[in-house]
Amino acid sequence: MSTLRFHALKESMSHTAIPIEGKEKRSDLFGKNVFNESAMRQHLSKDAYNGVMSAIEHGTKIDRNIADQVASSMKDWALSKGVTHYTHWFQPLTGITAEKHDAFFETIGGGRSVEKFGGDQLVQQEPDASSFPSGGIRNTFEARGYTAWDPTSPAFIYGTTLCIPTIFVAYTGEALDYKTPLLRALHAVDNAATAVCKYFDKNVKKVSSSLGWEQEYFLIDKSLATSRPDITLTGRTLLGHSSAKGQQLDDHYFGSIPSRALSFMRELETECMLVGIPVKTRHNEVAPNQFELAPIFEEANLAVDHNSLLMDIMGRVASRHNFKVLLHEKPFAGVNGSGKHNNWSLSTDTGVNLLGPGKTPMSNLQFLTFFINTIKAVHDNEELLRAAIASASNDHRLGANEAPPAIISVFIGDQLTKVLEELEGVTDGKLSPEEKTDLKLNVVGKIPDVLLDNTDRNRTSPFAFTGNKFEFRAVGSMANCGNPMTVLNTIVAKQLKDFKVEVDALIENKGLKKDEAVFNVLREYIKASRNILFEGNGYGEAWAIEAKKRGLSNNKTTPEALKAKVSKKAIALFEEMNVMSKIETEARYEIEIEEYIMHIQIEGRVLGDIARNHVVPTAIKYQNILIKNVKGLKDIFEEKYQRVSLEQLNLIEEISAHIAGINANVTKMTNERKKANSIEDIEKKAHAYCFKVKPLFDEIRYHCDKLELLVDDEIWPLTKYRELLFTR
Ligand code: ADP
Ligand code: MG
Repeated sequence: MSTLRFHALKESMSHTAIPIEGKEKRSDLFGKNVFNESAMRQHLSKDAYNGVMSAIEHGTKIDRNIADQVASSMKDWALSKGVTHYTHWFQPLTGITAEKHDAFFETIGGGRSVEKFGGDQLVQQEPDASSFPSGGIRNTFEARGYTAWDPTSPAFIYGTTLCIPTIFVAYTGEALDYKTPLLRALHAVDNAATAVCKYFDKNVKKVSSSLGWEQEYFLIDKSLATSRPDITLTGRTLLGHSSAKGQQLDDHYFGSIPSRALSFMRELETECMLVGIPVKTRHNEVAPNQFELAPIFEEANLAVDHNSLLMDIMGRVASRHNFKVLLHEKPFAGVNGSGKHNNWSLSTDTGVNLLGPGKTPMSNLQFLTFFINTIKAVHDNEELLRAAIASASNDHRLGANEAPPAIISVFIGDQLTKVLEELEGVTDGKLSPEEKTDLKLNVVGKIPDVLLDNTDRNRTSPFAFTGNKFEFRAVGSMANCGNPMTVLNTIVAKQLKDFKVEVDALIENKGLKKDEAVFNVLREYIKASRNILFEGNGYGEAWAIEAKKRGLSNNKTTPEALKAKVSKKAIALFEEMNVMSKIETEARYEIEIEEYIMHIQIEGRVLGDIARNHVVPTAIKYQNILIKNVKGLKDIFEEKYQRVSLEQLNLIEEISAHIAGINANVTKMTNERKKANSIEDIEKKAHAYCFKVKPLFDEIRYHCDKLELLVDDEIWPLTKYRELLFTR
């Protein structure tokens, strides 16, 4: 087996940067393979174009005749680019994208054939849904599911396939994917935010949610990654002693990008450009061989699609460059893990970013309205937001003293903290003319300049305001952004809806002016959500204690965190906002809990296998070498041998102790797994996996990693951390 490690190392040394051809400007490549607005304008009849645009902008239905026209033009456009197949492209609850390719090709009898693509095939398909997770929805209702065209996310060509973004729903209408609830949440926030905007500007007709994700990832030599069964099967290392050099010198962060990685990035960026993902920045991250890529923000539904597509493309491009991309949140113990910051904001069809301070007191009051309502939404739903980012892999980051903690809090910076303090002092009821002027001049009016020099960036905060957007930093690097974006937009929608009711009530019942009413409600919100604001170090033990006092949740593990998803409050919220029915909410909970169980189960099996079948035999092999050595020394030194072979004898014993430690703990883990598997109730089963099975991973790993330090490097079978992290 050790030969595989050395073979992999040798192969990795032959991997060099692959030259990237093509000198086209980014802007010439951008969107070339997307059936976007400009392609539609060129290829569709006026009627068809208007039909699709109205579906995009107002959610109107596309009639059959128009769908036929669009399909036909889409097909011609795609054929002209060498495309042979089409697929409905969707995001089932496995978290990865799914596709089933069909050829345009049809036979028409008489030995003849044509390329065909009708409105029917564009609008709806019925993939075999039985192998996608449904959380019991399909058992209780009907077995079938179908995909339906989402015209708000344009079709694109990848390779020789036309990909049509679709939603995926059961025949009874329940969502079986990430996109459907997201679209509903975006609709909800549009309605609620547009209504609130009307206080400030009657011309606003639509509010869109924007998302700019920052994707972190590791890039590991493909041969080396393949030589590790744990990376291959679980996406992370389950054991491995830390490298003598890790990230302590901080010499990787923002350093010059290694040439092999740069070639990969250049090709990846080209591919992104072609399918319309507006990637903009790239840099090294903190850990060795860790990088980040970020696009220009887009409308949230499109951005979510683009992130899913990116994760897929990354894997394919990496392979061509002899790399494996690790999107796992914690591929290596002891060095930083990866996240996916979700930068979020709301903007109007009149071009105003509602989370960006404006130029006039009135526009700043609008900014404060959305700013404070968002804080209140997070305050009231912190546990649900935590649940939205829960996964077995993200548990390694949250609550593990790195990345944001499992406690949700909001960071807003000094200046805005002061603004909120002043607003808290606003008089109850009607305001005097002096107070109004003072507020307008000195509080609300001062915001733009204070924000400019508000450069403080608290990296430990899970939810931070960064000038003109909120940055949800606790999202996992592997996650589909659809889930956190659905929750965030839903809670803000609900909050804005309630806000409108309260402001209207003050205007109607108490005779307050509009701005007085707004100030009054905001004042109460600030008071009510004070506990969620935190400017200090989120990693510290002190914060955990303080947060507990404040009554904030600190759900460190997925089984604990997920429960908030099916609380009465959460179910009612999703129902009220028409985002998910009770059945859908409960189904998702079930799917996620089961996914958690399966992840830990697989990791346990893989770890047991590696420990017993790779590590222990290697340790015994080395121990035998030592025994032979001691026997030889005994031959030469006779009774003096004890003295000269003292170290070897100690080593032999030490190795035995670690072997015993491994065997005992693997047996224990296997038994705990058996016990857990016999539990019917999935919640209890998840708890057993979390608190009985998983803790044994650390025990097993401890002994394996010790052996790695003791055993001759020449025979160690598993590619080591230093090799994985420093080969570039
Ligand atoms: P950082 O310093 O955290 O890397 P950047 O300012 O570079 O942050 O932006 C990170 C991401 O935030 C990018 O994807 C960017 O497009 C996005 N972003 C910028 N402004 C907004 C906004 N108003 N709404 C949503 N995302 C935004
Ligand atoms: Mg960021």
